[in-house]
Amino acid sequence: MPNMNPKKTPIPEQEPNVRNKNFDEVALGYTEAMAKEEAERCLHCKNQPCVSGCPVSVHIPDFIQCVVKGNMEDAYKTIKLTNSLPAVCGRVCPQENQCEQKCVRGIKGEPVGIGRLERFAADWHMKNGKEEKVQIEKNGHKVAVIGAGPAGLTCAGDLAALGYSVTIFEALHAAGGVLMYGIPQFRLPKEIVQKEINALKQKGVEIKTDMVMGKVLSVDELFNMGFEAVFIGTGAGLPSFMNIPGESLIGVYSANEFLTRINLMKAYRPEYDTPMIQPKHVVVVGGGNVAMDAARTSLRLGAEEVHIVYRRAEEQMPARREEVHHAKEEGVEFNLLCNPAAIHGDENGKVQSIECIRMKLGEPDDSGRRRPIPIEGSNFKISVDCVVMAIGNSPNPLLRSTTKGLEANRRGCIVVDEDTMQTSREGVYAAGDAVSGAATVILAMGGGKKAAHSIDQYIRSKH
Ligand code: FAD
Ligand code: SF4
Repeated sequence: MPNMNPKKTPIPEQEPNVRNKNFDEVALGYTEAMAKEEAERCLHCKNQPCVSGCPVSVHIPDFIQCVVKGNMEDAYKTIKLTNSLPAVCGRVCPQENQCEQKCVRGIKGEPVGIGRLERFAADWHMKNGKEEKVQIEKNGHKVAVIGAGPAGLTCAGDLAALGYSVTIFEALHAAGGVLMYGIPQFRLPKEIVQKEINALKQKGVEIKTDMVMGKVLSVDELFNMGFEAVFIGTGAGLPSFMNIPGESLIGVYSANEFLTRINLMKAYRPEYDTPMIQPKHVVVVGGGNVAMDAARTSLRLGAEEVHIVYRRAEEQMPARREEVHHAKEEGVEFNLLCNPAAIHGDENGKVQSIECIRMKLGEPDDSGRRRPIPIEGSNFKISVDCVVMAIGNSPNPLLRSTTKGLEANRRGCIVVDEDTMQTSREGVYAAGDAVSGAATVILAMGGGKKAAHSIDQYIRSKH
């Protein structure tokens, strides 16, 4: 008999007033008993609607059935058939808009906690499972992957499994992309990302770091070096600003810089000498996941007051509901229907206050969301020593501008054939945020997978 409790089995979490002072993971994960209880809520639907909601088609009811039976390693192996980063996806995927949105248990209650179960199976494997040494016979063909984010890692992993010699070229000193430099430790511990990357290295993937491609080597040079195809997964790391007065004052950061200093360069740990101001009064501008991460990170750095300033209402916020909820619990204050007009500094060029204007919602714009309209004369100031701009990112133009014949759209995204992920240049494929603009981990992985399949077909067709 399935467990007909309409609610998900709760996942243990650190208390808000404890966790907002440390960088440890917020959600602690299910115990085996909790995982079984939650797995028993699954009805094993014949038509598997949840699978159709997953961009990489994880065999969801099958892995959940393994958890019910206590075969945890089999649960992990079932997920791994289609998803190379289960411990990551179980933590950061927006399941509420994907598999869980389609789950039939969601009609009369809460959907099955598919993400929580995925995380459980992956963590169980990390603790108890053994990495089987797989001997993959090499097929003698070389592929270059540019960028070691989820798109590049997935593409590389799938190609290595097919016997290709894959080299990833990564600009930063560590692989992982946003998983390492963007998403904070308290949502996605970096040790977990590194374990997933080590599993990839076990498959024979070589990762060369500190390689800013387009500067160190061009795509043409890679072909000259004997790579038969090139995959571009360089993400969307170019931050947007509002172009208002005061954005170059000391203490104004892009969310990218702010989070990179803290996550990748460990500015929050005294033994690291990464420079970073210790902010006391912070305003984060934006309403997406990036904004929530920056706000919650500011609290953990010791800020006394952290405000989100967002120009629309809460219903229009693009951040995951869970992230907004966690941010509120931890003490972040939300200034909705407000937009910055200027940032003011002192005589030393340090930020002192941010001037905002109140907004009201008008008719829907191109995005389908109601357009925010400023209310004249409603300006007010918030005293700050730090402002973080988290209003979006676009693809970095470096590789695009140094690669002949690579077409991009007006948003700077590389144009691909959506069925094959091939770019306008023969032998060059691309996926992830570099193609879609800022999106999600699982969509980047789905694109990387598709590209790996096409690259395999392309190289086979030439021999
Ligand atoms: P990236 O992860 O950006 O990786 C690209 C890699 O390419 C980077 O390592 C970069 O250094 C490298 N690179 C760039 N240029 C070059 C070059 N010229 N040469 C060599 N290497 C280069 N998504 C979710 O699903 N859930 C979340 O909760 C979530 N939270 C997020 C929080 C933050 C703060 C941010 C910034 C994003 C978040 N996202 C989230 C979005 C998600 O992380 C991205 O959609 C995803 O990482 C895109 O993967 P990618 O491989 O295309 O690019
Ligand atoms: Fe189980 Fe929900 Fe998928 Fe049905 S839709 S198989 S209940 S997870």
